[in-house]
Amino acid sequence: MTLVAYKYRFKPSKEQAEMLEHTFGCVRFVYNNALAFSKEQYEQGNKTNFSDWNKNLTTIKKDADFSWLKNVSSVPLQQSLRHLDKAFKAFFKSGFGYPKFKNKRGKQSACYMANAFKFNAETKQITLAKMKNPLKVKLSRPFNGSPSSVYVSKTKTGKYFISMLVETEIQPLPIASKTVGVDVGIKSLAACSDGVVFNNPKYTKKYEKKLAKAQRKLSKKTKGSNNFNKQRIIVAKIHEKIANCRVDFTHKMTTKLINENQVICTESLRVKNMVKNKKLAKAISDANFGEIVRQIEYKAAWYGRTVSKIDQWFPSSKLCACCGAVYQGKWSLAIREWRCDCGSVNDRDLNAANNIHIEGLRLAA
Ligand SMILES: [Zn+2]
Repeated sequence: MTLVAYKYRFKPSKEQAEMLEHTFGCVRFVYNNALAFSKEQYEQGNKTNFSDWNKNLTTIKKDADFSWLKNVSSVPLQQSLRHLDKAFKAFFKSGFGYPKFKNKRGKQSACYMANAFKFNAETKQITLAKMKNPLKVKLSRPFNGSPSSVYVSKTKTGKYFISMLVETEIQPLPIASKTVGVDVGIKSLAACSDGVVFNNPKYTKKYEKKLAKAQRKLSKKTKGSNNFNKQRIIVAKIHEKIANCRVDFTHKMTTKLINENQVICTESLRVKNMVKNKKLAKAISDANFGEIVRQIEYKAAWYGRTVSKIDQWFPSSKLCACCGAVYQGKWSLAIREWRCDCGSVNDRDLNAANNIHIEGLRLAA
């Protein structure tokens, strides 16, 4: 059994929207409060953790000034402390992305564990704690079983989503006869050793002009005015559009790779190091490198495929896949094609994909 997230859009009633707004506000407050507390303590030389923040929350709730925290379910509040804990752990592990304060204008969310919602197995309706009626969710994609937790969110553009985690039995795919090496790059998003190239759709570039224009307009409005807020939504909608296209494309690509190949060989990318290079950072975040690898990995686990990751220092581009000789000149990002002494003309990306394939299969064997 695998935990699968099923995500749906929904429209809350007026009453539900008010309760959610209130809950989001409290979640934000509790998260930010704990983050500020932990910073403050850290500066005094004290390390704090989830249990300290939780004690702190209990104390705050007793204070009459913060009695409004009791009007919402306590579960999402505690969960927000768990999220902060996770954010800190990820930061300490990678040294990247110190937890940020949550903003009223950003994406809002609240996480409910099974004790904070009712699930009607017959109608598949969900009623959140502190609400009278079930949410009106259109189940565009059916699921079996009961959700163990649900995550409710509201985007910057005002759309509501619910994501339910459900234990699901996934049937592995029949064994495929092919294997593949994948070189994730910038010029082509992914070049595969079987010759298939997924071209980077460069959505951001396509929408860049539109976005720049919208952002210019926004900068001319008075902050906080009605027109400013309207324009802010327009900007957020362009961002949303770009993100949706990107997710869609990435899923199609990784699904195709998983469907067709039994072993998928990739490079372990140093996304963190690469993003430090400012020039590359934009192109990389646009191409969504980390997400591609993440999707390949979890889909492989679902469907019984093998992912073979080759070492990050393996010279996949500089090696001639034909004879194994190493390119001797000065190497640069600008080299798109090179001729080896053996006579082979190597396309940078396809050659790398071939090398990744060979090395990946060697490691997997
Ligand atoms: Zn050669």
